[in-house]
This record gives sequence, structure tokens and C-alpha cells, in this order.
Amino acid sequence: MERIYDVAVIGGGIAGFSAALSLKSLGLDYLWLGETEFGDKVKKSEYVRNYPSFSGDGVRFFEALTAQQQRENILFTKGRADGVFRMRDRFSISAAPEMYFARTVILCTGVDLKGKIEGEGDFLGRGVSYCAVCDGALYRGKKIAAVVSSPALFEEAEYLAGFAEKVYAFTAFDVAVNHKNIDLCRDFPRKIEGERRVERLISDQKTYDVDGVFLLREAIPPDALVGGLQTDGAHVVVARDLSTNLKGLFAAGDVTGLPYQYAKAAGEGLVAAHSAKKYLKEIAKI
Ligand SMILES: Cc1cc2nc3c(=O)[nH]c(=O)nc-3n(C[C@H](O)[C@H](O)[C@H](O)COP(=O)(O)OP(=O)(O)OC[C@H]3O[C@@H](n4cnc5c(N)ncnc54)[C@H](O)[C@@H]3O)c2cc1C
Repeated sequence: MERIYDVAVIGGGIAGFSAALSLKSLGLDYLWLGETEFGDKVKKSEYVRNYPSFSGDGVRFFEALTAQQQRENILFTKGRADGVFRMRDRFSISAAPEMYFARTVILCTGVDLKGKIEGEGDFLGRGVSYCAVCDGALYRGKKIAAVVSSPALFEEAEYLAGFAEKVYAFTAFDVAVNHKNIDLCRDFPRKIEGERRVERLISDQKTYDVDGVFLLREAIPPDALVGGLQTDGAHVVVARDLSTNLKGLFAAGDVTGLPYQYAKAAGEGLVAAHSAKKYLKEIAKI
């Protein structure tokens, strides 16, 4: 029998951690799903001075969070959600190759500060993809571009190289390449163009003729992750209880808007956990 969690928290940053901590103390069955515990930003913070009870550099902040996670026994599941779908009485969360089910979802996916490429939204599902495992096989024998935002995601570009004739991999970091059909590109992708489907990617230096563009970023734009979700630019539109326009789906942290700060993310994670519990009680009455 498939397991149905009370709440699935998507995103491993501070908002997700805070939501998971609260869900545990509220006695709910939760899944905390993310790519890395506490996200990439924590260790990169030079000096955190505005978070209650802590001041110090990002590495010490990370250590303090890890110690708390272990003390409170907060379970973390590694995975990158590539689609959240509303079913009759639950949500399904695809994190290829896994599939999870939950009655409610708290979206804590942060914001991608690297910005969008022109045309990205126009060609979504017509050559633009955010998920190598989901769509890679569609590009067997074709030429594709993979815009890879962090070293941890480079293995997805390597996975694509197993199908594609050629992968133009755009990275801003150094990486060892073990596939003959991966070309590392150091120029900056600016624009995606085509008629009905993707036909080319234009960088600040040249034009690449490609059939697909994979944008392998830590944060998938929220409306691409959850169909029908009301957004305002990169942010999810939320009410004061952090509910969204989709019943049973809540959002917390940077993904709900400014200010991008740890204390706000932690506070919202807690509020969203309480709102999810309230919602679960309400649907249990029906
Ligand atoms: C260099 C730097 C320094 C900073 N310094 C400070 C500071 O001193 N004080 C302060 O208050 N704030 C600071 N901030 C801001 C702070 O980092 C953010 O406000 C905070 O991290 C937001 O937490 P979050 O959980 O909402 O999002 P994030 O920390 O961005 O976490 C979101 C997580 O979700 C994951 N994710 C995204 N999409 C998916 C998906 N589809 N499936 C699974 N996981 C997914 C991402 O990989 C990420 O780990 C700093 C930020 C940076 C970049």
C-alpha cells in the first residue's frame, strides 16, 4: 500500500527545516524533501547577525542547524521534486525516480537568484525542461543545451549525455567532464528561440542550434513545479496563513517574497505547519 503523508515539505532550506520541526512537534506524519539539508545559501553566508540566538559565520550556522536536526531527530529525504499534482484527496509529488503522496504540501523551494533566460516560459514543455530524468529520453540522438547552476546538478547533464548526440553544458564552475559528447561552454545563455518548439539558444557570444534546453537549477519556478499555482513573478501569492490559491497547498520562505531573510523563512515555515494542521482537521470533519 502506498504511504500517504499528512504533509510533504518541499525544500531543504531554513523554511523547510522550520516547517519540519513544527510538524514533528505537532505530531504529524511529514516528509521533508530537498536536495541538500539547509540548502546552499547557509554555508555561503559570510556572517549571520540578524537571526535570534545565533551570530557567526555560515559554516557555524550550518553546524548549529545540523546539531539541532540530530537532537530533534528530524528526518530528511534527498530528492528534487519535478512535479506536484493535485489528485482527488491528496497531492502526488514526483521526484524522479520516486513518487510520494501527501494530503497537504508546504512549498519551501526558495528563489533562484540567477534569473531567467528570455523565452524560457514561452517554450516550457516545447523543448524547455527543468528535469533531466523526466524528459532526457525524448532527446535521444539530438543536440541539446544544459544550463547547470551548481556542481551538484552536473550529474544530470551527464545523464542527458547518455541520450543526446551532443550536450552543450553551460556552467560557471570548474568540473571534470568524462563524456565525449559534452562540450563545456563558458559563455552566458541569453535567449531561447524557435517557431513552434525550441530551435536555438543564443548566448552572449554565439548561437547554438539545439532541439531542447534543460535548465538545471536548484529552484524550479514555482508555477512550473505546480500547475495552476498563482504567482507574482518568482513568488507564490499567499494569504496571511500562507495558504495559496490551491486548497491544501501552502508556501513559506523566500518563495513567498521579500525580505529574503532567515528569520522570516523560519517564521513562515512554522506558520505554514500550523495552517496545514488546521486544514487537515477541517478536511477530517468533511
Ligand atoms: C550569500 C548569502 C548570504 C545571506 N546572508 C543572510 C544573512 O546574513 N541573514 C539572513 O537573514 N539572510 C541571509 N541570506 C538570505 C537567506 O539565505 C534566505 O533568506 C534563506 O536561505 C531562505 O530560506 P528558504 O528555506 O526560504 O530558501 P532556501 O534557503 O533557498 O532553500 C530552498 C531549498 O529548496 C531546494 N529546492 C528548490 N527547488 C526544489 C525542488 N523542486 N525539489 C527539492 N528541493 C528544492 C533548494 O535546493 C534549496 O536548498 C543570505 C543569502 C545568501 C545567498
